[in-house]
Amino acid sequence: MTTSPPTRLALRGDLLDFTARPGWAQLEDPAVRFRPDHWLLIEADGRIAGVQAEEPDASWTKRDHSGQLILPGFIDTHVHCPQLDVIASYGAELLDWLNTYTFPAETRYADPAVAKFGAERFLDALLAQGTTSAVVFPTVHKVSAETLFEAAAARGMRLITGKVLMDRHAPDALRDDVLHAERDCIDLIQRFHGRDRLAYAVTVRFAPTSTPEQLAMAGALCRADASLYMQTHVAENRSEVDWVAQLFPQARSYLDVYAREGLLHPKAVLAHGIWLDDEDRRVLAASGAQVAHCPSSNLFLGSGLFDWVAAREAGYAVSAASDVGGGTSLSMQRTLADAYKVQALGGRRLTAWAALHAATLGAAEGLGLQQEIGSLAAGTLADVCIWDWAHGPVAQARDAVVRGLHERVFAWLTLSDDRNLVASYVAGQPCYQRQHP
Ligand SMILES: [Zn+2]
Repeated sequence: MTTSPPTRLALRGDLLDFTARPGWAQLEDPAVRFRPDHWLLIEADGRIAGVQAEEPDASWTKRDHSGQLILPGFIDTHVHCPQLDVIASYGAELLDWLNTYTFPAETRYADPAVAKFGAERFLDALLAQGTTSAVVFPTVHKVSAETLFEAAAARGMRLITGKVLMDRHAPDALRDDVLHAERDCIDLIQRFHGRDRLAYAVTVRFAPTSTPEQLAMAGALCRADASLYMQTHVAENRSEVDWVAQLFPQARSYLDVYAREGLLHPKAVLAHGIWLDDEDRRVLAASGAQVAHCPSSNLFLGSGLFDWVAAREAGYAVSAASDVGGGTSLSMQRTLADAYKVQALGGRRLTAWAALHAATLGAAEGLGLQQEIGSLAAGTLADVCIWDWAHGPVAQARDAVVRGLHERVFAWLTLSDDRNLVASYVAGQPCYQRQHP
């Protein structure tokens, strides 16, 4: 029996990534690293060996993508696996939307077969959008987290998730209790946290669906192991903020509910963060937590307009997230195009650089994973995607007349989607290949 030697792979194309955070509203930026018509070298172990202009020797398997764009795989820092079934649901704000659409859909994930099918379909859908890493909400059911972890491991993906905690204000079929939830979390942490490219996130749905006792349990898990992530929602919608104020009268603010329980730390990812005040922003910055900005969801559910400049001034990290099914697309380009529009409504302009950074290196740094994902730097794992610069006559006509790199990338970001995706690689292994030309 013969086994073929491990393949060293060389991809040729226009390489774009970041070496630092770009400035705000800065079109020429030293943090942008653009290397047109270069070779990206990927060792047999899946790590990036380096980049060079000249063609590599015959020891490399070569794929020529000249004239196409090569980016680090996108990182979606807030998305709900079971909500593919309720994406594009009409006519509700957050709290109605949860009760009318989302909770019934999540109930079905108690069934292991539904959970397994849903996890695999969801991760394949991410890869087909150029998203190679994600921070994911499954459901309250332990099996929904297990199946996601297993499906991510099978694909070699970097995935952060955890069983959702919710022990009140939800249908019977979606409620746990403190004791069982803690037992399930500990078991999942022991089996999956740190295995392959998986990490566990203590996953509080949001303050209204957890009792103070459950929030205290979640905080104790975080304090016991600083390598655990934490994910939740905060200050998305004004009715939600009012409700939290009623439920937690002793807390200074919605964010303070989490701060008091020790849930804000450098591995915390808080979705939305729209209705925050200056004190909240100061607390967030001091904690090292990041906010996952979900523009398409915020527009679709009418939740509000995120103040990105205030976040930068306060000094906490902002990443970009689809928040499907409140968000209307898994595509990070669609998400970032919406982020531009949200800033425009506030009289500001989001550059293509600040936008793309928030879905690549910025997200990786916020998660403490910049040694592994988010750039094309040597030593990181080769999670990379190859894109057409333009797909279809409108985008092609626009691309033909661009002046300068920012204009080209901004037009790409605004006009492209999954039809532009040629191929996705996870740790140097092909995991999506476009079928049509
Ligand atoms: Zn969400």
